[in-house]
Amino acid sequence: MPGAPLPLFGAALSGSIITPAEAQYGSFYNHLGKHHFYSIGGDAAVVLVSGERIGAVGPRGEVVIPEGARVVDMSGKWIIPGLVDAHIHLFQSGGLYTRPDIIDLRSIRPYAAEVDWVRARLPMTLARYLASGVTAVLDVGGPFWTFEARERSKTMPHAPQLAVTGPLISSSMPSELRVADPPILEVNSPAEARAAVRRVLAQGPDLIKLWWIPEASRSLGEQSRWVRAAIEESHRAGVRVAVHAIQLEVARAAVRAGADVLVHSVDDHRVDDGFVRLLKEHNVVYVTTLGVNQGYREVFEQRFKPTDLERRLGDAEVLATLDDLADLSLWKGAFWKRWLLRWPDPRIASWNLRRLHEADITIAAGSDAGNIGTLHGPALHRELERMAEAGLAPLAILKAASQGGARAMGRGSDLGTLEPGKRADLLILDADPQSDIRHARYIYRVVRGGAILNPEYIATAPSGEPPDSETERHY
Ligand SMILES: [Zn+2]
Repeated sequence: MPGAPLPLFGAALSGSIITPAEAQYGSFYNHLGKHHFYSIGGDAAVVLVSGERIGAVGPRGEVVIPEGARVVDMSGKWIIPGLVDAHIHLFQSGGLYTRPDIIDLRSIRPYAAEVDWVRARLPMTLARYLASGVTAVLDVGGPFWTFEARERSKTMPHAPQLAVTGPLISSSMPSELRVADPPILEVNSPAEARAAVRRVLAQGPDLIKLWWIPEASRSLGEQSRWVRAAIEESHRAGVRVAVHAIQLEVARAAVRAGADVLVHSVDDHRVDDGFVRLLKEHNVVYVTTLGVNQGYREVFEQRFKPTDLERRLGDAEVLATLDDLADLSLWKGAFWKRWLLRWPDPRIASWNLRRLHEADITIAAGSDAGNIGTLHGPALHRELERMAEAGLAPLAILKAASQGGARAMGRGSDLGTLEPGKRADLLILDADPQSDIRHARYIYRVVRGGAILNPEYIATAPSGEPPDSETERHY
């Protein structure tokens, strides 16, 4: 978004906020009054929290600490903004039965049953994000019930900030996904595209999402008519549009038609200078999703190995389904009707990410969690490692996983950096994330809207139940 405030993020990282403190780890208080005061010890920086917001950030000595504020000593820790996963799908479990259009196992678990199961687990699923240090997520496509999920999440003590697009709008609707409240609204003309957008707009989406699957039978120019109509209709209502367009020429056509967010990396060709300029001119946010294909592939080739973090914070019942293909009878029964998936050379997406990052395009980290083999919550950390493998420095990755994600959500002025006035969603880390992005996993505390939470507690908490006492249950 133009006019975004100058982020303190870079300053914070190169200055004092994230500097390891020399002082020893001291006493630790939780103050439930109006102010929290976080000190990183020694003469390092402080973050002053007032209610749910950041009141001030700066070197100790420069920040005026209100009378009555309590000091929470974070000596020897690192403070970063809460992580943002800019691409998730709450209607998908991450398990084997969640995409019958890709691997049809409905004879074993009917699709409607899978979706009901997913809905029932929602509070726990959202808590897995928070325990993973993800304090905000953007759901880029799901049934109309995801709007209810957004409402419910506001009263859940362990939910991240949640933005949703509602149903994907597409000219392509896999028949396997036809249930009462399907994730996709099928449109076959510009007029139908406008009508579908209006239907979703009535629910107050954070963005509109278009799923552009190129059709061999029609030219790209012809297909872009419905895309352009949908974007016009949405922009008229002041709502930005996120588009699934993974091929270079489709992505180019999407941006020309007015797309604000590209929800995946371009993975079929290296981007050219014209494409880079186009993204810049249109101020497009580019979401990574480098790991999602690999998740599918490892599960289908029966070599998926959860990371320690995924074992600890992922949904054990979802994880268990990923081994079900080992049962050959199940495997033989699978009906591979449709291949939405290709296995593109991952080096192309990595090269493109590097190129766009160097050109200063806004990058947002997104995992595409909910897809088979990509687990709600911890998957973002896998994605951050893919970004490091692609050649991005830890600081650039952190920026994409906070400020970039906040911009993708349309909440750049509210989330994503350590700045006065922004929501106090922070992570306190035990290790320096500047030296190795994997250190972002070592989460000592998660601060959610000013409340200091112990991730160990969040991960084992009864689903969505408000804590009896903040002080007792969080420490
Ligand atoms: Zn997706």
